[in-house]
Amino acid sequence: MALTITGLSKTYSNGVKALKNLSLSIGNGMFGLVGPNGAGKSSLMRTIATLQDPDSGSVSLDGIDVLRQKDEVRRILGYLPQEFGVYPKISALDMLHHLAVMKGMTNLGERKGSVDALLQQTNLWEVRKKALTTFSGGMKQRFGIAQALLGNPRLIIVDEPTAGLDPTERNRFLNLLSSLGSDRTVILSTHIVDDVRQLCPRMAIIASGELLLEGSPAETLAALKGKIWSKVVATDDQAQALEKQLQVISTHLVGGEHEVRAFANASPGEGFSAVECDLEDVYFLTLARHGSSHMVN
Ligand code: ADP
Repeated sequence: MALTITGLSKTYSNGVKALKNLSLSIGNGMFGLVGPNGAGKSSLMRTIATLQDPDSGSVSLDGIDVLRQKDEVRRILGYLPQEFGVYPKISALDMLHHLAVMKGMTNLGERKGSVDALLQQTNLWEVRKKALTTFSGGMKQRFGIAQALLGNPRLIIVDEPTAGLDPTERNRFLNLLSSLGSDRTVILSTHIVDDVRQLCPRMAIIASGELLLEGSPAETLAALKGKIWSKVVATDDQAQALEKQLQVISTHLVGGEHEVRAFANASPGEGFSAVECDLEDVYFLTLARHGSSHMVN
């Protein structure tokens, strides 16, 4: 499956330019789309999911014109939106049957087979008769995947699915995503770099509606090898002084001290040691080079 996005632009009626001439190609397997809040990820996801039109540009999915042949896209699309909306008081089982009928699965025998299989796959079989309103955040997200998988879609879009999940729920959810197979395309939009590191052989970083970087996590890490330096300082003032002198990528609190990570071709000064770079370094450095604000913690 090949999804080709070409020159997509979108300005909302309030003047916000959410997508700026964005082009991107996405193939089979899990693709990570990462960017800070407000980067334009949801706008892009909603456009691919045929829920909103851009001002200009085109999207093609294996020869289907996504912006015009919407019904054809919807037949092969599973979508887990950022806001899944109101959860009714009915059970997971009944809701999945209802959504399956809406997707055109009218044969009861076939529908039962696929609904039951999805409840097993998403680990919701035991709680299938419980009302969705009683589900935890992680269970709701797994239900979201179950409904997205109805009809065995070839393209699956999941928008910020791990936000708000506790570590156990998040882990379980990432495992579920990774089991979806490589014979289809799964686009995972997230602001959590670690989700992408764990799951995605290909990724893109976007900010302010623009594509900043596209590649495999391994390639992007290789490009920074030997250029990431770390130093631990005691106070915030010392960390800020270093930020003025060096190309600091991020400052993290570690056990109450400040770990400063900087980019440099050679040691940037006393007390710095070369460290293994991680995907968060790639992400923060890419945003910093673009001049985007980024979260430093
Ligand atoms: P992300 O998913 O990366 O957080 P979004 O696509 O939701 O980014 O938003 C991109 C920008 O567009 C943000 O500045 C956001 O406030 C704005 N935006 C999103 N949806 C709308 C809308 N319906 N009307 C006006 N502005 C919007």
